[in-house]
Amino acid sequence: MNRTVYSPLIFELSKAGRKGYSLPQNPCPDYQTSQLPTELLRQNAPTRLPEADELTVARHYTNMSGNNFGVDTGFYPLGSCTMKYNPKINEEMAALPGFTGIHPAQDAPYMQGALKLYDEVQRTLAEVAGLSRFTLNPFAGAHGELTGLMVIRTYHEKRGDLQRTKIIVPDSAHGTNPASAAVCGLQIVQVKSTADGTVDVEDLKPLLGPDIAGMMMTNPNTLGIFERQIPEIARLVHECGGLMYYDGANLNPMLGVCRPGDMGFDVMHINLHKTFSTPHGGGGPGSGPVGVRAGLEDYLPNPQVHFNAETQRYELRCNGEALGHVSAFLGNFGIIVRAYAYLLTLGKEGIPMAGKLSVLNANYIKECLKDYYCLPIDGLCKHEFVFDGLLPQYGGSHTDASHITTLEVAKRLLDYGFHAPTIYFPLLFHESMMIEPTETESKETLDAFIDVMKKIAKEALHHPEMLRQAPHSTPVRRLDDVKAVKDAKFSF
Ligand SMILES: *Cc1c(COP(=O)(O)O)cnc(C)c1O
Repeated sequence: MNRTVYSPLIFELSKAGRKGYSLPQNPCPDYQTSQLPTELLRQNAPTRLPEADELTVARHYTNMSGNNFGVDTGFYPLGSCTMKYNPKINEEMAALPGFTGIHPAQDAPYMQGALKLYDEVQRTLAEVAGLSRFTLNPFAGAHGELTGLMVIRTYHEKRGDLQRTKIIVPDSAHGTNPASAAVCGLQIVQVKSTADGTVDVEDLKPLLGPDIAGMMMTNPNTLGIFERQIPEIARLVHECGGLMYYDGANLNPMLGVCRPGDMGFDVMHINLHKTFSTPHGGGGPGSGPVGVRAGLEDYLPNPQVHFNAETQRYELRCNGEALGHVSAFLGNFGIIVRAYAYLLTLGKEGIPMAGKLSVLNANYIKECLKDYYCLPIDGLCKHEFVFDGLLPQYGGSHTDASHITTLEVAKRLLDYGFHAPTIYFPLLFHESMMIEPTETESKETLDAFIDVMKKIAKEALHHPEMLRQAPHSTPVRRLDDVKAVKDAKFSF
């Protein structure tokens, strides 16, 4: 499938003197502009702006929008990112003027509807997670991690237990885990994975002691595998006085099936921009709600949204036990509205279906492709799984310098109109290719993707040069990665 190829820059379309507007004569007398401070006046005209007529500009941006790839354009199996379809009703709800018109500093009595929505989302997440209370203030998953770790730190500090400066993080963790822990001032202690990709309990045991603040775990982990030893791990960490942190960025397959709170976790974050359908990518707005078990609620950041049963009103409270503020106001409110619409659309019956279908779709692709791509960890996966490049018989041998790499497979997928999976993550394998189809894709789309992946494996065998040159039909050909990082404006 070829998409329209369009790539001139608006500067290249510029023609001196061409205009897209005609303004009336400036009605202001000269003396008004002469009042402007001279240092603010442009000294050396003309400006270096493109000059173009309106039609050229309209065509330019309309054609350029066709160069974007999004969930609404095609299949986007970007592992760990949960690029599911974002129902348009959520966008409509978030755009309601009653929501978009609220000033963030408006007083609580004048935004009761917004606070009610906030409260219902935080309560629903608490129910889904099996925890006591949530805050929706953090702006992203990593921000949620930092907030959750600050809750853990505050908990130890309030008990006067100041020696707990270390946090245990599995070697398979998402990079944000150690980064957030470091920002929180904690020292990272790495625990190894076993050959089946889960946390190695025997490696964990000697790491535990009176200096451990807690342990971060991702479940399903970044290999898409359910961590079966959680009860045992939680018992060991709790016995040594630490708290259990759940990275719930990828909660999708767990929805309505099992709950972190029931597994023994004390603190967690959820990504609304993944599991709860908010569109994301390109660094767009996110939301990383943080939940805690009973006894830790007061440490959640200020302001907190509470329902006052006596006055029947919603209130904003700041309490002295809290770890402080982590965001201006109440977080990314538009994202919270989208999550609310999504939760209500799915309802209690629909939520568990979403998780189960995401697992079914991932396992379907995995089973159909494992005779072509190397599956380092076999068996049932959750919503995503990892291939370690092509099988050697299709040119994927790691030891041969001329092998076909994961990068080449990923680039070739673009020619067929699919977004590439997440590549070279997790770091546990050389040629990681992390595939997450999500529940929103039809069997026809999954089959089309499977066919193309098989076709690419055969191309690797018979036309390796074509793969090395891919992509062939995208608006921008293969980038010089090093140059792109160092010199962004010349990378294409
Ligand atoms: C995406 C992700 C994060 C980080 O979320 P951001 O919103 O990108 O900061 C953390 N952990 C896991 C497992 C993730 O997949």
